[in-house]
Formats: sequence, C-alpha cells, structure tokens
Amino acid sequence: MSFLKKSPWVMHYDGSSCNGCDIEVLACLTPVYDIERFGIINTGNPKHADILLITGSVNEQNKIIIQNLYYQMPDPKVVVAIGICASSGGIFRECYNVLGGIGKIIPVDVYVPGCAARPEAIIDGVVKGLAVLEEKRNSLLNIRQGVGVEALVVEKAESEDAEAILQLQKSAFMSEAELCCDFNIAPLRQTLDELKEDFGKKTFLVAKLAGTPVGSVRAFSEGDTCYIQRLVVDPLRQNLGIGKKLMAEMEGRFKQCHTLEVHTTDKSRRNIYFYKKQGYSQVKTEKISDSVTRIFLQKKRTVKND
Ligand code: SF4
Repeated sequence: MSFLKKSPWVMHYDGSSCNGCDIEVLACLTPVYDIERFGIINTGNPKHADILLITGSVNEQNKIIIQNLYYQMPDPKVVVAIGICASSGGIFRECYNVLGGIGKIIPVDVYVPGCAARPEAIIDGVVKGLAVLEEKRNSLLNIRQGVGVEALVVEKAESEDAEAILQLQKSAFMSEAELCCDFNIAPLRQTLDELKEDFGKKTFLVAKLAGTPVGSVRAFSEGDTCYIQRLVVDPLRQNLGIGKKLMAEMEGRFKQCHTLEVHTTDKSRRNIYFYKKQGYSQVKTEKISDSVTRIFLQKKRTVKND
C-alpha cells in the first residue's frame, strides 16, 4: 500500500444481485473489517471514484446504467467484479434476461470469487485493484507524454477489430453525451452486431499502437461526396495527432470524391474547431432536439483524372 500516492475512492453498484454480496461489501466498511484504514472511501459519485465495485449480473435493464457509470469515471480506473454473479452470471446466468457477468459490457480488472464473496476476499480484490490502478496511472503518464505515438499505424479495420472499435466509440462519445445531456445517443446505443453490419457497407479504418486499437473512423461515398463518420480516438490519447492522421488517410482513400462531409453537434466546440483546422467549413445545420443542433461541414477539392 505504501506505493499509493493518494487515497483511492470506491463506488459500489448492485447490478442484480441477491444482496448477499452487497451485505459483504458493506461489512468491509464496518469497524470489524474497516476498509477505511487503508484510506479507502466509499463514494456515490462516479466522477469521484477510482474503483468500481460491482455485485450481481448484467441484464438488459442495468446494462446502460453500468456503462454510463463506468464511462463517467475518470481515468485511470479499475473494475472489481464481486461474487460469482458479477464474474459470470452465476446461478442466474440461464435466466432469460441475464446477459452474463460484468465483463460482457465493460472491462473487468479483478474478479473476486465466492457466493457470497467474503469480506476478506473483497478487501484482497480491492488491494489487487490498487496495484492495477497504479500501473494504469503510470502508463497514462507515458501516454500523455506521447511516448510511442511515432509508431502509430493506420490500416483497414478487420471484423476482429469490431469489439475494440465499439469500446473506443462508447468511451469517446461519452463526452458528447454529457455535452448534449443525452446518454441515449446512437453511438452509445450501437450494438456489436450493428457495427459488424456496417463493416459490409462502409470503409473502416483503425489506428493502432503496438497492435492496440486507439482510434477509428468510417466512411462511404454517394455520387461524388464522401461522408466521413464517427471519428473516435481513445480519450486518453487525444491531442496527439491520431484523429488528424485518420482523417488524412480516409480522405486519401476516396480520391474520386470532390466533396468530403462530416457532421457533429453545436455542443462539440472542440470537434468543430478540429474539423475547421482540417479545412472543413460549415454548410448547413439541422435541429435534432430543443437544445441540440447538428452541424454539417464540408471540404471541396479538385479531383485529378489520371
Ligand atoms: S454471488 Fe451469490 S451471494 Fe453474491 S449476488 Fe450472486 S447469488 Fe448473491
């Protein structure tokens, strides 16, 4: 514990447990087990939390809530799945509405076994999570210093990249959802099957660092216009030139198109600034709700006929 630079804060979320594991989590906070002696504090706010403790399995109703909590937590963050239900769905895994363990929808760092998980095992899991947290904090520092970005590779995405691209999309669009006060926007709702379907209809590019996807963009053409969509960059690696490289590569793949079009919302000042810097200008707007307007930007270019 001495390597920790600050007191970690945990947030507890009860997925769909029988409450057995929740009682054990609460026992950790009581004077008997006293997790606070390690400087660990329980918070109800995902924006203050370093570690997410989840009990119970994932179902259709809590899936979005768990993802929203996870994506609202600042990086670095750690997820601890407590009990067999959170790990694999447990005795509820065959239920019609149960999707399985928490790992089905967000990345899990530590699994705590047991039914119910014992307080000693939960504390052990949290302490293991602290080591992971510190590791992530160090790699985050390297990322922010741009270490390794020169080795970035942009290539055509294959269907095996789909899952990683969907995770990137969900974490990257979380800031957009917050700006629009709408956590039900299409990029957050998209399923893996829908994304895989898009692979057949659009050109997908993925940016990789040491084989790990860190950004993506997709596009298609109609007439002589190329529509570039869902440019996403890992939120930890933004402002390192990854988005610019993806855009340039995609524009180069649609050489036959005179017009390139992108869209964003009026809330995303940063996106608008980015696209304008790449040579795009606003051409039209469309109201999508009382408070949000979609902005369309285009870039015209001369096409050379060989
Ligand atoms: S692991 Fe056991 S005690 Fe924990 S939530 Fe599932 S059924 Fe309940």
